[in-house]
Amino acid sequence: MLNIHTIGGYDEVGKNMTALETGEDVLLFDAGIYLPAVVGVQEREKNPTEKWMREIGALPDDLYLDKKNLRNKVRGILVSHAHLDHIGAVPYLGPRYKCPVAAPQFTIEVLKKLLEDNRNGIPNRMMSVKPNDSITIKGKENYKVEFVNITHSTIQSTMIAVHTKSGVVLYANDYKFDNTPTFGDKPNYQRLKQLSKIGIKALIVDCLYANDDRKTPSERIARGLLEDVLFTTENYKSGMVITTFSSHIARLKTIVEFGKRLDREVVFLGRSLNKYVSAADVIGKAPFKNQIQIVKYRRQMEKVLQRINKNKRKYLIVCTGHQGEPGAILDRMSRNQLAYKLSPDDHVIFSSKTIPTPVNIESRSQLEKRLKKFNVRIFDNVHVSGHGGREDLRDLIKITNPEHVIPSHGDLKKTEAGMNLAIEMGYKKNYNVHLMTNGKNLTLK
Ligand SMILES: [Zn+2]
Repeated sequence: MLNIHTIGGYDEVGKNMTALETGEDVLLFDAGIYLPAVVGVQEREKNPTEKWMREIGALPDDLYLDKKNLRNKVRGILVSHAHLDHIGAVPYLGPRYKCPVAAPQFTIEVLKKLLEDNRNGIPNRMMSVKPNDSITIKGKENYKVEFVNITHSTIQSTMIAVHTKSGVVLYANDYKFDNTPTFGDKPNYQRLKQLSKIGIKALIVDCLYANDDRKTPSERIARGLLEDVLFTTENYKSGMVITTFSSHIARLKTIVEFGKRLDREVVFLGRSLNKYVSAADVIGKAPFKNQIQIVKYRRQMEKVLQRINKNKRKYLIVCTGHQGEPGAILDRMSRNQLAYKLSPDDHVIFSSKTIPTPVNIESRSQLEKRLKKFNVRIFDNVHVSGHGGREDLRDLIKITNPEHVIPSHGDLKKTEAGMNLAIEMGYKKNYNVHLMTNGKNLTLK
């Protein structure tokens, strides 16, 4: 018998956490934060504690496990990839569990960087796993846990397969099927098919875009979109600023390559870019690192920006702030607080999409208003998503042929769309496709 406990990420996009209970053991999938809750957190609180983070609604409500007497049965925290809505809660919640944290290598390196900010560190042992490798998690029983390579918007993203007596539980947050990734390997279809032969008892799956009738385009397309903007607009004399997700190493690699082709010196600005690029570099996945300058300290930044400002056409700035985050580089640039002065015809390229939460939409539109006062050229949404659409989900269900489908990674509007697709494919509601909310338990016999 298996019990699946939905702790976070079923009523919102963020703070992902699911518990798999089997016999006397519990395994946790992901421990993420709710990003809208932590906007501007550094300005509000220098050393956020677990208690404080709980109060602002940033953490999954894992006190649920205490109430169910399950906390002491947790044998492992298994993290799928390096995005904060999947790993960001580990520094706060890890110490509550006497067990290892297991994740792909890049995710472990990012976690170490996050812990540098969190002075206390965590006592949990860290298990750094190469994608497509497996580990054993020891409990009352032993569990083979595989980290199957998949494509998404950060490197070394994985689907986690836990082998139990009742079959395989496959945790598929987050993914898309990208057959032409620009960096890293294709999805490991072969292993997914083998797992389906072994028998997948339950598929817990990303339904963020289950409502969208499409297959999410490859990262190759995002590369094409960027190429189009960078090489077909009149920008020979212009300043050029690109902002994108700091964890999107493949995208950053593309930007650096194009910067070189434009004969511009590429400069990365901002602490979070430094954090993710350094983490990638530790595992040998930042091949562009020696071709760029990374500036993380404010004093150093002023000097560099003064130099760039005098000769804009020679540089390409990559910076943080695509969501309009207060205090990020682009935010400060738009408020004229930096030595780089925006001027007409400067290219400001958002290689990103605004995350559709009220906070993000508002700060992003304010940012744009401020930018437009400088008469810069704005290129929005030069981006493709890392999350699969409805047709990716259909393929995933076909390939893995799970006995049960559990839609996740969103509120009911999103998970319901995932459920409806499963029903279209022959599943029955409450029988083998299950619509869940946070803090619920599903028993699979
Ligand atoms: Zn993700």
